[in-house]
Amino acid sequence: MTIFSKIVAGEIPAYKVAETIDYLAFLDINPLAEGHVLVIPKKEVDYLFDLDDELYTGLQIFAKIIATAIKKAIPCKRVGVAVIGLEVPHAHIHLIPLNRMSDINF
Ligand code: 5GP
Repeated sequence: MTIFSKIVAGEIPAYKVAETIDYLAFLDINPLAEGHVLVIPKKEVDYLFDLDDELYTGLQIFAKIIATAIKKAIPCKRVGVAVIGLEVPHAHIHLIPLNRMSDINF
């Protein structure tokens, strides 16, 4: 079970931003900028592009809704979108409010 599945199951805490039957958005525990959100499918799939087309498309639509809400809530030039997946083997999209590239410190 991935750490993100444990968050979905409520076994470890996270600050949840939004939730549907299939998807969850929550704050990153180690944010690259204030308001850094992760959006995930609840189904445990390793890599984003391993998702079937239906779940993948739904996740992108969910991410778009969350990014729009972040943009309203946090003053920023752009909500950056990133797919990394080096640490947690559970498909996810990073949404990071940004004003300039120096806001993020990879
Ligand atoms: P990636 O897999 O895309 O390289 O990075 C995984 C992201 O998940 C990191 O930004 C990291 O801070 C975040 N993360 C890892 N473990 C937890 C956790 O237990 N809770 C939350 N909220 N975020 C986590």
